[in-house]
Amino acid sequence: MTIIDAHIHYGDDAPELLALLAEFDIRLLNISFARDASNSWQADADRYRSLATQYPDRFAWCTSFDLPRLDDPGYVDGVLAGLERDFAAGAVACKVWKNIGMEVRYPDGRFFQVDDPLLSPIFVWLAEGGYPLLAHIAEPLDCWLPLREGSPHYGYYSRNPEWHMYTRPDYPSHGELMAARNRVLEQHPTLRLIGAHFASLEWDVDVLAETLDRYPNLAVDISARLIDLAVQDSAKVKRFITRYQDRILFGTDVVMRTPPSSLPPEERVQTIDALRGVYTTHFAYFEAKGTVTVRDRQTVGLGLPAGVLEKLYRVNAERWYPGLVRG
Ligand SMILES: [Zn+2]
Repeated sequence: MTIIDAHIHYGDDAPELLALLAEFDIRLLNISFARDASNSWQADADRYRSLATQYPDRFAWCTSFDLPRLDDPGYVDGVLAGLERDFAAGAVACKVWKNIGMEVRYPDGRFFQVDDPLLSPIFVWLAEGGYPLLAHIAEPLDCWLPLREGSPHYGYYSRNPEWHMYTRPDYPSHGELMAARNRVLEQHPTLRLIGAHFASLEWDVDVLAETLDRYPNLAVDISARLIDLAVQDSAKVKRFITRYQDRILFGTDVVMRTPPSSLPPEERVQTIDALRGVYTTHFAYFEAKGTVTVRDRQTVGLGLPAGVLEKLYRVNAERWYPGLVRG
């Protein structure tokens, strides 16, 4: 069964990587995103595009657009021209990142939110073209809670305190960010929106279920949130995935630090082995019926039936990102 990793950042074609992808029959959807006000994301996008051109069975790509330039009257037209060029060149989606909502500000200090009218023509354009939007808005709820050892995100927020909002009450709350994202879903009902990382509602599948019920144009990817499933009751998670089996996309969010092809052979093998481990852990959790270890925690595998696995691994990605289907 072909598996689509619908959320990864891995712009390399080392022979060991291609061999791993062939072994599991995995295709990677490489995601570009504007991490800062420079246009450096375009270098990633160029790399991802050329891999998709060279190895269409193994790679696809998602474009992005520059962060808002509030003083640039040509900003929206420039974004639309870039999107037109990128979708014509085979991009299958467009991404917005958490800096929309949590970093970009107006001159008066207020935070720019994803439902700002400035972005509306971009979302209208995407919806009319049938192009999906991948939205990573907000962060795990833990971001707004005190650091607690043992929580799934303790490591990240202890290493990246600049993103730990508990200590920064002047920043928008989790609820405010969710409300802004939800207004985009309401204002653009024909826009296909994929909420990255369980749409930042990772801590309880029941909470995510309510949002999925409210917005039929929303799907989610599971990327970087396997641990959040693993700490919930497996029977409950299995019921959730079974019920929403058409709206959950597999992805890992593995971020390539150094291109394996530039590493000495031994390190290259280690890097690809680590990636293999990410995949086998996911497969074990979704497929096995006995005890499974995710990170350092033991839980019970979901033992999902083949039909549900096929949707999770491939069919939903192709449905929500139609550009993945090759003619
Ligand atoms: Zn990502």
